[in-house]
Amino acid sequence: MRLLARCPDCGVAMRLSLEDADKRKRCRQCGRLFKVPALEQLRKALELIKQAHAGVYVDEKGNVYG
Ligand SMILES: [Zn+2]
Repeated sequence: MRLLARCPDCGVAMRLSLEDADKRKRCRQCGRLFKVPALEQLRKALELIKQAHAGVYVDEKGNVYG
């Protein structure tokens, strides 16, 4: 199971674990701090991951991209 967050500034994908939810992460490419959505917001993403067995992108507002 993979969870990926896309940096709002440079768009680089960062691999997250579920323990990163609701925390701030720093982009390793541009240094931008952004918030990882809370697990409550990620429920849709988690369902998609289960179905797709593939990576799913989330952004800091909890939006989900397949
Ligand atoms: Zn970045």
